[in-house]
Amino acid sequence: FWQACSSQLEQELPPQQYSAWIKSLVPLSFEEGKLSIAAPNRFKLDWVKAQFANRISELANQYWDEEVEVVFVLDPRGGKKAAPAPMPTRPGVDGEIPGSNSAPEIQAEVVAPEASPRRDLSRINVELTFDSFVTGKANQLARAAAIQVANNPGVSYNPLFLYGGVGLGKTHLIHAIGNQILVDNPNAKIRYIHAEQYVRDVVTAYQRKGFDEFKRYYHSLDLLLIDDIQFFGGKSRTQEEFFYAFEALIAAKKQIIITSDTYPKEITGMDDRLISRFDSGLTVAIEPPELEMRVAILLKKAHSEGVHFSDDVAFFVAKHLRSNVRELEGALRKILAYSRFHGKEITIDVVKEALKDLLSVQNRQISVENIQKTVADFFNIKVADMYSKKRPANIARPRQIAMYLAKELTQKSLPEIGELFGGRDHTTVLHAVRKITADRSKNPECNHELHVLEQTLKG
Ligand code: ADP
Ligand code: MG
Repeated sequence: FWQACSSQLEQELPPQQYSAWIKSLVPLSFEEGKLSIAAPNRFKLDWVKAQFANRISELANQYWDEEVEVVFVLDPRGGKKAAPAPMPTRPGVDGEIPGSNSAPEIQAEVVAPEASPRRDLSRINVELTFDSFVTGKANQLARAAAIQVANNPGVSYNPLFLYGGVGLGKTHLIHAIGNQILVDNPNAKIRYIHAEQYVRDVVTAYQRKGFDEFKRYYHSLDLLLIDDIQFFGGKSRTQEEFFYAFEALIAAKKQIIITSDTYPKEITGMDDRLISRFDSGLTVAIEPPELEMRVAILLKKAHSEGVHFSDDVAFFVAKHLRSNVRELEGALRKILAYSRFHGKEITIDVVKEALKDLLSVQNRQISVENIQKTVADFFNIKVADMYSKKRPANIARPRQIAMYLAKELTQKSLPEIGELFGGRDHTTVLHAVRKITADRSKNPECNHELHVLEQTLKG
């Protein structure tokens, strides 16, 4: 029956719909007038139920010439994500309860016997790999550095320091390094830890007078991944402990990878000793994704959800949501939920409706006026200088930067921007955009300034 049914649906449906929804269904059983069909994940399950259940029931009734009950279930075998494999038993660490507070956790880490499965202890998320990481101009340097380090841990750039705003892929990238190193060397002793957890672990060690164990554990790692190290700011005991771990690991040629939301020097409340250590390897920024990359990310993520996004739709979303990848993922979820709920195909109109709230916030957020004010404040000049005809360098350059940002962060055309900058010609704006683009790629200081401005504007 299933063959007949699916080839019937193949004729009835547009090819994308057929391959997105029907192809992945699997007939499970037919007993006592009840036909069970499995969908590979919950999303597809809900969608198929809403969209195709009636038609499939009809076909079943016709086929058997009797009333057949069709039920849809989650595929018990396909649900890799839905049903994680049971935790392997670890001798000697039965005190550890997943998701419990930090106290038992550090205990478990420290006493874990050598034979324990590395991957579990490493806290590496196996889904965050280089394969699932979309590359563009904004992150190509960071990705190249990450690959270099993954291929030569401890000997190329040490530490590798990745920084950038929220949702730009820092956490993803360092997990990708961890995963790659585990593939090449399954016995490597790896630990991913968020800086906040590290702080809590230091506190626990302190309360238990357990610093010897703490040191033994951290100083014996092959690879330490510390995420969001800005959380160390102002925590001097944590910084001191981390300094020892850092020195020990670097001396032993063990790789350290750090992420932060800013440049090392800009982390408030961080010991100068550590800042200079952070800068002693390679420091790379991850920038907000450019338009093409945002489109690529949307298409890839939609595809992996089994949904077809037309290029038009992807461009529309990417044009309007500019700040980061996490936001794109959120938008994608909203669109899918909306289209599923209303049973509508994903068109630009549907997207506008689904993202109504998000889009209006975005439009409010970054205006040319907003950019002019922010840039003027940043360079300590008057907002009026943005439209004035004056041209001393201390004003001309900030003005060019503001024009560049206006082009980058708003939907305005060159002539419109020129108009908002005191009625300047569009060629003046174009010149500014080109000049700042070139400066940015040559000069890290300039790049950093722009980075700070962009982050400020995006809130
Ligand atoms: P950060 O740590 O910089 O705040 P994350 O690494 O948590 O950002 O990324 C936010 C989300 O976006 C994650 O789900 C991540 O998998 C995804 N993501 C970020 N960058 C990319 C990319 N280049 N390609 C694919 N997914 C990405
Ligand atoms: Mg992160």
